[in-house]
Amino acid sequence: MACGNCTYVCPMEAIYIDPKLKRATINRRECVECYACYDGLSQEHLNPTMVRTVRRIFAALRIRFDPEPDVCPTAAFEPEELTWPRMVRRAFSDPRVPHESTGVEGRGTEEVKTNDVTGRVKVGEVGFTIEFGRPGVGVRFSEIQEMCWDLAKAGVAFEKKNPITSLMTDQAAGALREDILDEKVMSAIVEIKVPVERTEEIVRLVWAVEKRLNTVVALGVGARCDENGEDHVVAPILERLGYKLERAKTNIGLGRAIRIATPAGVREKVSS
Ligand code: SF4
Repeated sequence: MACGNCTYVCPMEAIYIDPKLKRATINRRECVECYACYDGLSQEHLNPTMVRTVRRIFAALRIRFDPEPDVCPTAAFEPEELTWPRMVRRAFSDPRVPHESTGVEGRGTEEVKTNDVTGRVKVGEVGFTIEFGRPGVGVRFSEIQEMCWDLAKAGVAFEKKNPITSLMTDQAAGALREDILDEKVMSAIVEIKVPVERTEEIVRLVWAVEKRLNTVVALGVGARCDENGEDHVVAPILERLGYKLERAKTNIGLGRAIRIATPAGVREKVSS
């Protein structure tokens, strides 16, 4: 009935009122299947013909008849059965859908921020999360592919449990499945790790590829603290590259112990 309420809940601005049809319409190429339009509005089940007629009569009298802003008055949204490759959009865009490769809800793994439990980034290593897209921007897999190609050429190790890695046909080349390259998602995260000496090289590589992409890229760097809870290895490199560091979050190892004190000193526990 073209009230327009749904146009405000779509994070991708994919819903618009078609001026010819006078109906809310979804730009399917830009829609990332996040389901915010279906789940984000309360639904009333008013008869659309009746509501349109009432609105027309009221409009002739110069009176507006609009539903509450958080309501779809005619329960107009009906999700379609998604098939491959379009279903990959939802896996990376609807935070309530568990990703089949990780079992984790949303677009990524638990990333390096859970390193206190996973022990994924070892002493002497640095973990990178390279995040593409944001609400309102999104990203196509063809753009993620550009980054993965260059990272693979640099010989980095892709995190095996990451959803993007699971969509690669050739990890050594960083090649993603061809049938998903034109699919668009809200955001996605590539995870890699390298020896700490390669920190600057990887940051500069990401900067260079990002300039060629038509989306936003956020770079996360995960490093191990020393026994005093400080990092004097990776932080100076990042500061030299122009980043202003703030301690935002410290994971204090409430999970599985990954460092064990022995008479010979502190050693790394082999992750089980
Ligand atoms: S599923 Fe998400 S992106 Fe697609 S039209 Fe609905 S709110 Fe917009």
